[in-house]
Amino acid sequence: MNIFNKCRDYVYADRLKAQGIYPYFKAIQDSDGPEVTISNRKLIMAGSNNYLGLTTHPRVQEAVIKATEQYGSSCSGSRFLTGTTVLHEEMEYKLAEFMGKESALLFTTGYLTAQGVIAPLVGRGEYLFSDKDNHASIAVANTMTSALNGKVLRYQHNNMDDLENRLQRVEYDKPKLIVTDGVFSTFGTTANMRGITRLARKYNANVVMDDAHGLGILGPGGKGTAHHFGVEDEVDLTICTFSKSLASTGGFVVGDERVINYLKHNSPALMFSASPTPAAVAAALTALEIIKESPDLPHKVLRNARKVRTGLKELGFNLVDSEAAIIAVMLGDNERTFRFWQALYEEGLFVNAFISPAVRDGEQMLRLSLMATHLDMHLDFILHTFKKIGTRLDVISGTPISMALVNNVDRELVA
Ligand code: PMP
Repeated sequence: MNIFNKCRDYVYADRLKAQGIYPYFKAIQDSDGPEVTISNRKLIMAGSNNYLGLTTHPRVQEAVIKATEQYGSSCSGSRFLTGTTVLHEEMEYKLAEFMGKESALLFTTGYLTAQGVIAPLVGRGEYLFSDKDNHASIAVANTMTSALNGKVLRYQHNNMDDLENRLQRVEYDKPKLIVTDGVFSTFGTTANMRGITRLARKYNANVVMDDAHGLGILGPGGKGTAHHFGVEDEVDLTICTFSKSLASTGGFVVGDERVINYLKHNSPALMFSASPTPAAVAAALTALEIIKESPDLPHKVLRNARKVRTGLKELGFNLVDSEAAIIAVMLGDNERTFRFWQALYEEGLFVNAFISPAVRDGEQMLRLSLMATHLDMHLDFILHTFKKIGTRLDVISGTPISMALVNNVDRELVA
């Protein structure tokens, strides 16, 4: 036996490739946001988390160039040592101000932020309550918390009775942290933030919310899911990423100054990983400025998502209800999902395929993410293509869609 035997035996992806239905690692040749080129073909992108379309905004691109000229391409060290520039500090100041909290701290990615915040805060004799459908980065943070002797209790997805039951069983005085996604990344459902903050008050717990898919989209001015529900003062910490509305890569946490100060000196994910590059921070900082100046951006992305959601529902697709910019089209098994994905791809539409074990068996689906910069012709193309493939593959009956939704489908788009 050899440690690599399992790698040689792993042939699932090879089989899909041989069948011509492998949907991952497609190399993009160029992108303007809603339209991309792959294998010399133009496709409509409906799978990117570039929700506000700011990755190609001229001001964002200029800021990246300027930051690279001023600071070089990398900080070549962690935040703790050589990885803090004036830009990093400015971004922390502006994020805290935007979110209405005392302080912020930048991490290298959103993935690292979860473990960098949660694991150092929940120690021996302390409790972490985590929604079962939280993002993979929180699942890793949970494992690290257990390894460091914190007690992790996972509650049923968004189920306040189950959360309360578990909270009740722990002594009132014991330190407790509840962690939840604001918008759940797989299906786009919104956390019951009013219920969670009410239970946190009742049982002496604190709350940390991951708002990767809420920031820039929900709440007044795109301030996120806690503001959307009016509970921003009761969410103690928000963790988030630059990789979606903020058009970059990186992560951050906002909260009380004393907590941020503690994390600065006790978070291995912060202290032992190189800080986000100056270019990455400059992009996110400029995207944040644009969000503050453009309150219409969150409305645009939500309007686009609503239009596609309504259209897909009218066509007879089985969707998960969501208030955000994610649309999950349920298909129910791996093979069907891969075949549907491939047919859309061949028609010129890029979405994301979620299969088991990333989702539970029976919950396999295609995930669409809408952008503020999708034009009506893109949205119409998405609906038209889903209708065509849904009918061909017998997923829907082919009921006619209202012409108000599909007008003017621009075949040139996918020439
Ligand atoms: N949290 C959630 C809810 C996410 O969806 C993601 C990214 N998919 C992350 C964290 C990780 O963020 P990053 O891409 O910055 O690592």
